[in-house]
Amino acid sequence: MSPGGALPDLRSLARPELAALVGELGEKPFRARQLFRWLHRNGAATLDEMTDLSRPLRAALAARTSLMTLERATEQRSVDGTIKWTWRTGDGKLIESVYMPETDRKTLCVSSQVGCALGCTFCMTGTMGLARNLTPGEIVDQVHRANRRLVELGEGPAPRPLTNLVFMGMGEPLHNFDRVKAALELLLDEDGPNFSHRHVTVSTSGLVPVMRRLGEETQVKLAVSLNATTDAQRDLLMPINRRWPIGELLAACRSFPMKQGRRITFEYVLLGGVNDTDADALRLSRLVAGIPAKVNLIPYNDNPGLGFQAPAPERVEAFHRILFDRNITAVIRKNRGADIAAACGQLAAVGATGGPRRPAAPGQGAVTLTDPGGLGY
Ligand code: SAH
Ligand code: SF4
Repeated sequence: MSPGGALPDLRSLARPELAALVGELGEKPFRARQLFRWLHRNGAATLDEMTDLSRPLRAALAARTSLMTLERATEQRSVDGTIKWTWRTGDGKLIESVYMPETDRKTLCVSSQVGCALGCTFCMTGTMGLARNLTPGEIVDQVHRANRRLVELGEGPAPRPLTNLVFMGMGEPLHNFDRVKAALELLLDEDGPNFSHRHVTVSTSGLVPVMRRLGEETQVKLAVSLNATTDAQRDLLMPINRRWPIGELLAACRSFPMKQGRRITFEYVLLGGVNDTDADALRLSRLVAGIPAKVNLIPYNDNPGLGFQAPAPERVEAFHRILFDRNITAVIRKNRGADIAAACGQLAAVGATGGPRRPAAPGQGAVTLTDPGGLGY
C-alpha cells in the first residue's frame, strides 16, 4: 500500500513493478504481460474487460490496487478535423488533449500538468498557475482514451489510430520530468502503444538542467519554446528566462545528444508588434545558426485579456522570408482548432484550478518555481 493509504494505480506502474505485483499474487510471469497489454495496448477502462485473466486474479487486483481511467467530460470538433477533449481526473480536475489529423500522421497533443507554474505572459495555461502534476497513468490514459474514441469515430484501426505524440498541451513536461519519463516508457513499450521515439516530441520552455536529463535518459525528440531573441524581451515574456537565459538555453541545445538526421524544433510565437520585426528575425537566424534546427513560427492565437495581438499576415511572411533567405528551415504553423480554443496556448480548462488568475504584469512574472517534481531548483 502506498503512503497515505491510497491503493497504487495500476495504470501508473512501470512494467517491473507490475511483474512484481503479479508475482506476489502467486501468478505466472506471462500474466503480467497479459495485464500490461490490457492496460496499455488495449487501453482497458476496467478490470472487468480483462476477460482472459481469472476472476480470482481480477478480484485480488481489485483488492490491492486501483485503476485510474480518465472520464471524457467534453468533446469539441473543429471544422478542420481537430478534436479537443476535456478529461476529468479521479479528483475532479480537468485536463485537455488535442487531436490533429494530417494526411501522413495523426498526432495527439497531451498535457503533463494541471495548469503550469511558469507563467508565460501570452499563454492561457500560464495564467492558471500550477494545480498539480499529472501521474504517469493520467498522462498515458489521455492517449488510451483518445485511441479508443478515434476507433469509435472511424478515424483509424484499433488499437492505435494515433501515430505521433507531442507534449505540448497543458503544463511544462520538464517540470514534471520523472512522471513524464515513466509515461514515455509505457508509451514506447512494444507491448503497449509501441510509439517510435522518432514520433514523440517533448516541448520545453527551457528548464536547462532537465533538458540534459531528457537527452541522457530518453530518446525522444526535443522542441524548445524560444519566442524571443533578446534576454530583455524573453525575461518579460517567459519568466523562466531569468533563471536560464538564452545563452544557457542555446548552449544546452548545442550539447543535446542528437540522433543521426534529427533536428531540434524551435517554437516561436509571433506576437504582433512585440517580437515580429525584421530585426527579431535576423537575431533569430543568428541564434540558431549551426544548430540542426527547424523553426516553427506560430502566429499568436488570441487569448482575450492577455494584452497581445496576432501579427499582421505580411509580417509573418516577411519574418519567414528572412529565415528562409538565411537557410533556416522554418514553417508557419497552421492555426488549428482555433474555433474550439484548441490552438497552441489556448488550453485552460475552465474550472480546472478554479479559473484563470490575472496574468502577471510585465516584469513581475513568477520567477520562483515550486519544485513538485523534486528536481532541485
Ligand atoms: N510548456 C511547454 C509545453 C507547452 S507547448 C512549452 O512551453 O514548450 C505550448 C506551445 O504553445 C509553446 O511553444 C508556447 O510558446 C505556445 N503558445 C503559448 N501560448 C500561445 C499563444 N497564445 N499563441 C500561440 N502559441 C502559444
Ligand atoms: Fe507553461 Fe509552456 Fe504555457 Fe509557458 S508556454 S506557461 S511553460 S505551458
